[in-house]
Amino acid sequence: MKNRLAIYPGTFDPITLGHLDIIERAVSIFDEVNVAVGRNIGKQPLFSVEERIEMIQKTTAHISNVKVSYFDGLIVDYAQKLGAKAMIRGLRAMSDFEFEFQMALVNRTLFPDLVQVFLMPHEAYTHLNSTIVREVSSFGGDITPFVTPYVAQVLHKKFHRSK
Ligand code: ADP
Repeated sequence: MKNRLAIYPGTFDPITLGHLDIIERAVSIFDEVNVAVGRNIGKQPLFSVEERIEMIQKTTAHISNVKVSYFDGLIVDYAQKLGAKAMIRGLRAMSDFEFEFQMALVNRTLFPDLVQVFLMPHEAYTHLNSTIVREVSSFGGDITPFVTPYVAQVLHKKFHRSK
């Protein structure tokens, strides 16, 4: 039987401990998880695709069944191309629900065979998103509770290069 592959798409600008929590849960139920860095039309990312991929690779280096990739275009087309059985999304709070619900139903219409799986992170991460991490870092705040040491270092360099 073909390995059960799940795709975990997102912007990951940058990857946080909340994303890592979801990836760790996903690898416990799938043979392989492909963390797919996508382009979000509504967001101008701080980090290049290469930087985001490197941060994800370093953050997930301890997990053997994780791959990191980049896609452009529709996530369902990319999922189909990879042969993914499922798509993983994280649900932090009710505020995520409406958007995720709409996207899940649209994706299901486009690709009915792709199973949508929603995972809840540990409650320590339910308040966390990449935007808040970028903001705290830009003002010189300590972001080590929210990201891995490597990501904290990359963020620090990005905002405080001359210091
Ligand atoms: P997007 O731009 O698609 O929201 P993100 O990189 O912000 O991409 O998030 C990718 C996925 O990870 C989404 O399903 C999002 O809900 C989830 N996610 C983001 N932050 C967290 C977190 N702190 N805990 C759990 N899931 C999260």
